[in-house]
Amino acid sequence: MENIGEQVVCLMAYHLLFAMFIWSYWKTIFTLPMNPSKEFHLSYAEKELLEREPRGEAHQEVLRRAARDLPIYTRTMSGAIRYCDRCQLIKPDRCHHCSVCDKCILKMDHHCPWVNNCVGFSNYKFFLLFLAYSLLYCLFIAATDLQYFIRFWTNGLPDTQAKFHIMFLFFAAAMFSVSLSSLFGYHCWLVSKNKSTLEAFRSPVFRHGTDKNGFSLGFSKNMRQVFGDEKKYWFLPVFSSLGDGCSFPTCLVNQDPEQPPTPAGLSSAAKNPENHQFPAKPLRESQSHLLTDSQSWTESSINPEKGKAGMSNPALTMENET
Ligand SMILES: [Zn+2]
Ligand SMILES: [Zn+2]
Repeated sequence: MENIGEQVVCLMAYHLLFAMFIWSYWKTIFTLPMNPSKEFHLSYAEKELLEREPRGEAHQEVLRRAARDLPIYTRTMSGAIRYCDRCQLIKPDRCHHCSVCDKCILKMDHHCPWVNNCVGFSNYKFFLLFLAYSLLYCLFIAATDLQYFIRFWTNGLPDTQAKFHIMFLFFAAAMFSVSLSSLFGYHCWLVSKNKSTLEAFRSPVFRHGTDKNGFSLGFSKNMRQVFGDEKKYWFLPVFSSLGDGCSFPTCLVNQDPEQPPTPAGLSSAAKNPENHQFPAKPLRESQSHLLTDSQSWTESSINPEKGKAGMSNPALTMENET
């Protein structure tokens, strides 16, 4: 580059992107994944009982009793309480056992070999920023290198070893840009739907059945679950996700537009006597502050967005615990 102004701008932009990329990469690697809190672990007496009971209904009964006061809404495919044999705990919603870490990880997304760490509740925001900044970094390099890359092929560069650096740099940056953009795009979609990678492959099962959008609260709230309420922290790898990682707001929304309009809260109970609509219980602290700017999402019939979209039965309600 000949122009001094161009040099200064490029150097500053380069180092800013580089610093943000390293910072978020560092945080993704070194933030320990969070494990379920003590209340999800079985007591000594409960463990003894479990060992004595044969697998099956009696086993489930012990777990059901232990899970009575826990904020869990998801079940296994067969409708049983989710239990980890390895960690001897009742799995919180969205928690999965990672076979690499050999631990239960809160809101586990996936185990990432690129960061040699589990991506989950504690570092998912950092992981997203790492993808975003590394993509910007690669795009910046590819864009600034492009004119010299073209000159390489038109023999416009001085004939030194350095011209090969220009070529390899462009190829590396362009290739990483392509793979990062697809991964980043995929995770943007996941965030907008409030899904983890695992949940995108296997939908969470609630008491009433499988619901692939069971945790989705709408685009804006889904974003804020990961990035937090304060805009100033959105682009910094500083922890600002909402909630405690153990419990998540769930909503049971009947989004079938084919159904005739029915008064909220009546339809599913009427159709299936076993599937009661329980009265909305008070939200836990971690859940309630996610929802502060809306009236209440149990007030389904006056949700303006759903009304506009013509949803017939927007029965938003907390799922009941067993
Ligand atoms: Zn486990
Ligand atoms: Zn892991």
